[in-house]
Amino acid sequence: MNLVLLGAPGSGKGTQAELISKKYGWPHISTGEIFRNIKAGKSSLAEAVKGYIDRGQLVPDSITVDIVEQRISESDCERGFLLDGFPRSIYQAEILGVSLGRRGMGIDCVLYLALSDEAIIRRLEARRVCPGCGRDYNLVTQPPKENGKCDACGTQVARRVDDNIKIIRERLDVYRKETQPLVDYYIKKKVLSEIDASKTIEEVSVSVKEFIDLKCDVHRT
Ligand SMILES: [Zn+2]
Repeated sequence: MNLVLLGAPGSGKGTQAELISKKYGWPHISTGEIFRNIKAGKSSLAEAVKGYIDRGQLVPDSITVDIVEQRISESDCERGFLLDGFPRSIYQAEILGVSLGRRGMGIDCVLYLALSDEAIIRRLEARRVCPGCGRDYNLVTQPPKENGKCDACGTQVARRVDDNIKIIRERLDVYRKETQPLVDYYIKKKVLSEIDASKTIEEVSVSVKEFIDLKCDVHRT
């Protein structure tokens, strides 16, 4: 089954993506990770991508789409894949649809991890990181066991630089502007399932599994 995962920063999207990938064996394809890998490589594509990133520009849609198309035509994606961070616009979604359509496929399911602005802000404000070893914490969902000290190395955990309220609000704005049209787009295509992401990782994971199993059943019949 071919899945797209949508969710705000702080919705636990990355964590759920890993859980789904592990449970169902579908590769987790994150465009952020693909770009990082490409940047480390030496191809002409790598040079082009590096150029955009170094100039602080967005990698153009045509290149992003090519890269994702290449990735999902690899053999480990035959049984299904999980896209995270792509598509980011209706334009990308349309091209992806056409490309999959040519191979008799499509996006079967879009899971939207929905969370209110207040909840997103609360979660992002509660994020901490260990300056010593880089381990992530969250004072609400995943606090250090003792007095704000890292479980692994004992260093006092600290806020991330990019987690101040102004930057959080800016990121949230960008996210809403980008994602809402995609949510509407996939609702019209009747493939979107909205999941309440305000619960714990385990509870959200159970809902995600129920939705996927339901879709898989429909898919098989
Ligand atoms: Zn540490």
